[in-house]
Amino acid sequence: MLDLAIIGGGPAGLTAGLYATRGGLKNVVMFEMGMPGGQITSSSEIENYPGQIEVVSGMDLMMKWPEQCQRFGLKHEMAQIENVTKVGDIFKLTTSDKKEYEAKTVLIATGSVPRRAGFKGENEFFGKGVSTCATCDGFFYRGKEVTVVGGGDSAIEEAIYLSKMCSKVYLVHRRDTYRAAPSTIEHMKHAQNIEEVTNVTVEEVYGDMSGVQGIKVKHKETGEIRDLPTPGVFIFVGRDVLNAPLKQEDGSFLCDVNEAGEVIVDLRMRTSVPGLYAAGDIRIDAPKQVVCAAGDGATAAVNIIEYLG
Ligand code: NAP
Repeated sequence: MLDLAIIGGGPAGLTAGLYATRGGLKNVVMFEMGMPGGQITSSSEIENYPGQIEVVSGMDLMMKWPEQCQRFGLKHEMAQIENVTKVGDIFKLTTSDKKEYEAKTVLIATGSVPRRAGFKGENEFFGKGVSTCATCDGFFYRGKEVTVVGGGDSAIEEAIYLSKMCSKVYLVHRRDTYRAAPSTIEHMKHAQNIEEVTNVTVEEVYGDMSGVQGIKVKHKETGEIRDLPTPGVFIFVGRDVLNAPLKQEDGSFLCDVNEAGEVIVDLRMRTSVPGLYAAGDIRIDAPKQVVCAAGDGATAAVNIIEYLG
């Protein structure tokens, strides 16, 4: 029987693991199918993590976190939790290969995945020119033109990153104002090779067997269609939470969630189910910052220790 099962190995899950083990819990397992680190590892530049003065990649920022946790006894299971149920006081977790675990408490910290924008050609060319990760795929477009779709922090930060290796970046956004932080927008406006293409909707991404050849956008007021013949199209239009493990057989969720599927928690990261906690981007009102996810993980762990006590 585990004292605590942590689902997800991003900043929230890792920090919870660190605080829980260092705080005295003996049997703590973090379930993470891939390398721990979370979605931030696909961010190209982090400049707002406190104390981290040099601009580093998400991968570099997260590199040492797992090792620090393991020093205090956190175990890492490379498994994907498919389902969590509660029977009496005990949680039952089932992995995708049907292995079962029992735990006294559970922390869900699965975060979110990039959302698809929903235009023609997006799915067809995903991985063949359409991407949601500039650090992973930007390299393929070195010296070439690319399009970035979106108007939030992710889109603008990644457009700036791509502008350093690509000959030109078209920043395509459906409105003429952005959601991103003013300093990030200012930074983008200084890049000589970023062209803002605003007030447009994406008509389609087109190409052939070899991959994407371009993207067509339509001006929302004039209806004019513009063809941007770029072989790379990067989509940053927000994220969807990964709450599938909480889904029960009858389609309901194990605990209360809001209309976007985000887990409802209180200030102690407690869900509506005693012993079940949520931290990081999966919870309501998450600011979606590494430092906040880490803070959530610590808050959850401190309260889990108290709950078990
Ligand atoms: P976001 O802030 O939700 O922005 C998504 C953008 O995509 C919006 O501009 C939205 O347009 C646009 N969009 C949404 N659906 C679309 C569609 N179907 N077609 C075309 N455009 C669409 O998402 P994000 O940039 O991924 O950021 C998520 C959160 O993480 C935010 O809270 C952000 O502040 C945070 N974040 C912070 C940092 C940092 O601090 N360094 C870095 C990255 C992300 P509208 O504006 O018209 O809705």
